[in-house]
Amino acid sequence: MSRVIYVNGRYLPYAEALVHVEDRGFQFADAIYEVCEVRRGCIVDETRHLARLERSLSELAMPAPMSRAALSRIMRETVRRNRVRDGILYLQVSRGARPRDFLFPPAGTPRTLVCIARSVAPEMAEARAEKGIGVITMPEMRWSRCDIKTVMLLPASVAKEAAQARGAREAWFVDAEGFITEGASSNAWIITAGGELVTRPADRAILRGVTRVTLIDLLAREGLAFAERPFRLQEARRAREAFVTSATGNVMPVVAIDGEPVGDGKPGPITRRLRRLFHTAAEMSPLSGPATRIPSFAAIG
Ligand code: PMP
Repeated sequence: MSRVIYVNGRYLPYAEALVHVEDRGFQFADAIYEVCEVRRGCIVDETRHLARLERSLSELAMPAPMSRAALSRIMRETVRRNRVRDGILYLQVSRGARPRDFLFPPAGTPRTLVCIARSVAPEMAEARAEKGIGVITMPEMRWSRCDIKTVMLLPASVAKEAAQARGAREAWFVDAEGFITEGASSNAWIITAGGELVTRPADRAILRGVTRVTLIDLLAREGLAFAERPFRLQEARRAREAFVTSATGNVMPVVAIDGEPVGDGKPGPITRRLRRLFHTAAEMSPLSGPATRIPSFAAIG
């Protein structure tokens, strides 16, 4: 089956899906994006992803390309046309194509909208989660508005390459005070010796992960001890368990930090349980018909 990509109003064959060379996403990284998981034919946490997309747009004074309902229709149609049952859905909005100029283009310049859906074999992610992943640490090198989900991903790409070169899969950034901010493409979590789950507050230094906020709902439901506070690398090294969250990796056990084992060096029992339960706390939207669970609060602030 040939793949189809949505670009500015049209569903095009993969090889013909093109964006202009003067697109502001290409020249200035003046673009924002979302990645949702598609699981068993449902879009996971669509409401929260669209709420965050709207927040990213508004923080950058970028007008929305269309209504939330219209975006949702395009997302569904892209998943449908590519027959994705398990995989990912990528949505990008740029400020549009204009002759190169630092200043924003005039109001009314059409935004560029791209939607891509791709199948990912669920067994691959499960196999990875069974083993857990290693992370490396490196000094924070991104900008001061990491809460906006822009396509400015060069630091993340460089960090992931460094991780891979050292046999790890993710990099944790460490800020000037020694606190972990987050992973290159995930939020960072630890479980202390006392059994408390800890993640950094959603300040401007981290992305407000949708998986992170749905997991916080799940922790409340399960009655698990939870603290939103910054934690240092030394504390992470002493943690009983550690994991990262993201739409593509769900709850992914971290078994080593800079080559040193976390706990006994295997995925921990609490992390494994949270991974198993995660989708019971998420909003699951079939391609047609109502969602199976609407979160009690849609906004992620
Ligand atoms: N932080 C960063 C920097 C990310 O790129 C991602 C993945 N988009 C996350 C956190 C996790 O966010 P989410 O759970 O919404 O995928």
